[in-house]
Amino acid sequence: MTDVDAIVIGAGNAGLTAAATLQRAGLRTLLVERHNVPGGCATSFRRGRFEFEVALHQLSGVGFEGQDFTLRGLFDKLGVADRLEFVQEEDLYRAVVPGSHDVTVPADWAGAVDALEGAFPGNRDRIERFFQLARDVTFWQMAAMRGMPADEVDPVLFRHGLRPFRDVLDEHFDDPALKSVLATYWTYLGQPPSRLPFQDMALMLFAYLEFKPWHIKGGSQAMSTALLDSFLTAGGDVRFNTAVETVLTERGRVAGVRLDDGQEVSARDVISNASLPLTYGMLDDPSVVPSRIRADLATRRIGVSGFVLHMGLDATPAELGFTTSTTFVNADVDDDRTYASWRTLEPARGICVSSYDVAPIGFAPSGATHVSLMTLQYGDVWEKIPPAGYAQAKFAYAETLLDRVEAIAPGIRDVIEEVDVATPRTMARYLGHPGGAIYGYDQDRTENWLFRDSVRDPGVEGLHLAGSWAGMGGFQPTLEAGHRVARRLLRAQTA
Ligand SMILES: Cc1cc2nc3c(=O)[nH]c(=O)nc-3n(C[C@H](O)[C@H](O)[C@H](O)COP(=O)(O)OP(=O)(O)OC[C@H]3O[C@@H](n4cnc5c(N)ncnc54)[C@H](O)[C@@H]3O)c2cc1C
Repeated sequence: MTDVDAIVIGAGNAGLTAAATLQRAGLRTLLVERHNVPGGCATSFRRGRFEFEVALHQLSGVGFEGQDFTLRGLFDKLGVADRLEFVQEEDLYRAVVPGSHDVTVPADWAGAVDALEGAFPGNRDRIERFFQLARDVTFWQMAAMRGMPADEVDPVLFRHGLRPFRDVLDEHFDDPALKSVLATYWTYLGQPPSRLPFQDMALMLFAYLEFKPWHIKGGSQAMSTALLDSFLTAGGDVRFNTAVETVLTERGRVAGVRLDDGQEVSARDVISNASLPLTYGMLDDPSVVPSRIRADLATRRIGVSGFVLHMGLDATPAELGFTTSTTFVNADVDDDRTYASWRTLEPARGICVSSYDVAPIGFAPSGATHVSLMTLQYGDVWEKIPPAGYAQAKFAYAETLLDRVEAIAPGIRDVIEEVDVATPRTMARYLGHPGGAIYGYDQDRTENWLFRDSVRDPGVEGLHLAGSWAGMGGFQPTLEAGHRVARRLLRAQTA
């Protein structure tokens, strides 16, 4: 008899949905988290009169009551739907390149076509064709992901799904500014249009245009706390401030874990929400890892991290000039150059500005605003900075994000009441992920779920992988992945 039926390493999105799914199905489950709160990236913290959202900019996958997308149904199954209050964003985003364009794209297909035609006249037909292709590719991709046999899937997916997004844009449009506005979300996937498979971008546009972008009242921490409560109410056991140090094996299969206080806990199944390099590195007997998995891991590249200014501002969004919850400000339309700059400390070329009080989530006091400025950066840039130069480098780089936001909110520096800066090193410290990567591995075409064995089969009996390192990063994919992996485990147990 084992101590528990299953152990979940890490209480990020996927760890929480996995643990809640298992425990609610009756499996005695232990959840182990090295930090002192649940959520991983999906968390918040306080500074002065403000609470700061760490990671959630726009939640996809929610949909409406009666027209649910996947997450509303998942939250319902896990018993947390009633505890979450979703706040809808009316617009997809405002896209600004000073001197070139300033366009607000509403979060619905027809409104988006009108706004883009208004800003770039003469393109209506092309935009409609492009959106139709995005919908078609998404429809058939979802069918294929749900197991539809390849010979029944419409060829539109095979013709366009893995093409670089840049090719599809070039085929439809001439105007570089229009292409840039339509490609704005590429930073959410961490790869520029030239490297991004069209099907990933199509899915993202579909998710936000069809089912809208959302915030959560109380931030992503409210969601993480509700998921933890669902797990605990069902009888689950959680240890915070505790890391799994070793995954124990016996006769070639998983047998439990050793915690960092030396305690050993036995279980036949372990779901890891930690990074893949860490998870496989924790196995007490590396020889249990099949060579095909080792070969697979050796070809993967650590993905991008982030650099964020969390700010409490003593002014309202209207006083500051924020008209949308989400604004992207870029230096120009050269996405490849921006991507290359993530490996340098040159001034931030593009930022995502999230204003959490245009549609308030309740984190700023009345008359004030909580705003985050974010750009992406690879961790190795920051790992190379010697400790003595770190603080200076961090604040110098932060100034470049403030320079960028001044284009839409002049004088913002004068109303800063609280500010906290997070670098890739901060992410690495809090998450334990190499490079502080926030979406797991680089999400280019070679990382697609079609090509990666380790995602489908971790190769070690009793080991299961869930989270951004074993599929797509981001909120919706990881929340769904934890539930999916747990259900697969449950099915295998009853088979
Ligand atoms: C600043 C920022 C902005 C972001 N913006 C967005 C956005 O707008 N939209 C979006 O969709 N996504 C966004 N993301 C990405 C998204 O938040 C993540 O991809 C997603 O939350 C990852 O979830 P996960 O399940 O993989 O777990 P993670 O959040 O990566 O958490 C893993 C957990 O495992 C724990 N752990 C690791 N090792 C151990 C161990 N040995 N023992 C015990 N515990 C361990 C860690 O402490 C952590 O809690 C952002 C992320 C950040 C940081």
